[in-house]
Amino acid sequence: MKLLDGLYAYPWTNPSANNANSYLIRSGQVVLVDPGHLEFLPRLIQALRLDGIHEDSIQGLIATHGHPDHVESFQAFSQRPVWMAMGVAEEEFLRSLGSDIYRMMGVSKPQLRIEVLLREGELFLGDERFQVLETPGHSPGSVCIYWPSHKALFTGDVIFEMGVGRTDLPGGDSEELISSIEKLARLDVEILLPGHGNPIVGKKRIQRNFEIIREMYYPYLR
Ligand SMILES: [Zn+2]
Repeated sequence: MKLLDGLYAYPWTNPSANNANSYLIRSGQVVLVDPGHLEFLPRLIQALRLDGIHEDSIQGLIATHGHPDHVESFQAFSQRPVWMAMGVAEEEFLRSLGSDIYRMMGVSKPQLRIEVLLREGELFLGDERFQVLETPGHSPGSVCIYWPSHKALFTGDVIFEMGVGRTDLPGGDSEELISSIEKLARLDVEILLPGHGNPIVGKKRIQRNFEIIREMYYPYLR
């Protein structure tokens, strides 16, 4: 589903299974954000094709963090000329404690070929400028991606519409999550693209969502 020029959303809407929302950036390069669980990848590929995007055109994959419902499908691209990226701290975490999450979820940990390690700062996809924000709390190396020209923010599992990422999984940290959410709240955002649930459109609605999160969730996170 096309949201804006060069921005496509593939929200996960099946309540009987968990999977991340996927997003496709087609500006500068063709990049898939959070391709999700491997078993659901054929469905995503079909949806991309309906929008006129063939999977062979994908040049890069970005994971907001290393949980299997966001990143498991990376392995399907391992033989393709596709670069794969995640936060530098997340890649390190996955090689140690992070693999417990895969065991807990009953998923065998894929061999991930991560060659682009994302750090706080600018990220260029072709000529298009993005900003990487390190946002630990839900997972220690979570990153959010801000797209200034669209005022769009990919938040992964840091913040959702009326919710926040859980902090009880290995590497989770409630205080860090609050700091990360506050960091996102300072950005000028017109469209918030979370890893689960509905995108939030409009600056006022996004700011109201931050206020609701502060009131409803911070007391339990502290
Ligand atoms: Zn997660």
